[in-house]
Amino acid sequence: MTPPETFQATVISARSVTPRVRELVFERDGAPFHFQSGQWVSVVIGDNVDAPGRMVSEASAGGQVRTGRPLRRSYSIASVPVVGGARFELVVTKVDGGVGSTWLHELQVGTKVEVKGPQGMFLRPVDVGPSLFVATGTGVAPFRGMIHDALAAGRTEPLWVLFGVRTLNDAMYREEFEALAAKHSNVRLLLSLSRPTDGWNGRTGYVQTHALELWNELKALGGVPHAYVCGVKKMLLEVREVLKTQGGADRKQLHLESYD
Ligand SMILES: Cc1cc2nc3c(=O)[nH]c(=O)nc-3n(C[C@H](O)[C@H](O)[C@H](O)COP(=O)(O)OP(=O)(O)OC[C@H]3O[C@@H](n4cnc5c(N)ncnc54)[C@H](O)[C@@H]3O)c2cc1C
Repeated sequence: MTPPETFQATVISARSVTPRVRELVFERDGAPFHFQSGQWVSVVIGDNVDAPGRMVSEASAGGQVRTGRPLRRSYSIASVPVVGGARFELVVTKVDGGVGSTWLHELQVGTKVEVKGPQGMFLRPVDVGPSLFVATGTGVAPFRGMIHDALAAGRTEPLWVLFGVRTLNDAMYREEFEALAAKHSNVRLLLSLSRPTDGWNGRTGYVQTHALELWNELKALGGVPHAYVCGVKKMLLEVREVLKTQGGADRKQLHLESYD
């Protein structure tokens, strides 16, 4: 495991992937950036400090200065690792009143930021076996790389993505996952909408309610399945509970990444 490095990266492009989510493409300055699918980076949020409002007297500076550690926020890497590459993508949900996410939504192309990474142990060995990926919102980010890695390695075991979003418009990378599913019969995208519009006849409600059914379906196909679950803690804990108590999942089969 490579220890995290602190480095400068430049925003080279940005776009909205849903009405509330901005995708930012960064390039590390002057060196490749090596990471594994599932890892995350922390980004220094401009001049913000993590103890806002703290002011100290600085006699030598002849006045008062703001002090404190730089404010950092963590984001999963949403892109697929490329050997020798320097680029990586992040997807950021705009949180109302959120300092970091608002700053990242306003960040201009060409701006340099300080990044520390890669970090985290939410990793999926490429040959681990049948997998159920459960995400809400930007929690789908680490699964993009994991699924591309598995397919690039020629893996044919089931790779099912249960993705919970409010509306269809919030399902980032939907076309990409659907294209993978059309090309590879082992890939499935199962959307669940918490605010379905008229005409939607797919799954509805929270992913917690569908995880057990899919887990049991996966188990019936044979092999030892694994669940990778990413998003807010409440969802994570509920999925873990239902898969453990009703789905017979062992601790080693459950892999969680919490965003809060
Ligand atoms: C390992 C890891 C990976 C992460 N990856 C991603 C990612 O890929 N994309 C992403 O968008 N976020 C991700 N997050 C969350 C991210 O680090 C920030 O917490 C998030 O962007 C909010 O930061 P903020 O400064 O805007 O909000 P803050 O100023 O910290 O919080 C403002 C208010 O919003 C509430 N709040 C915080 N987060 C959320 C939320 N997600 N939804 C609703 N309310 C919230 C807080 O409780 C607070 O009341 C990740 C977190 C971790 C730990």
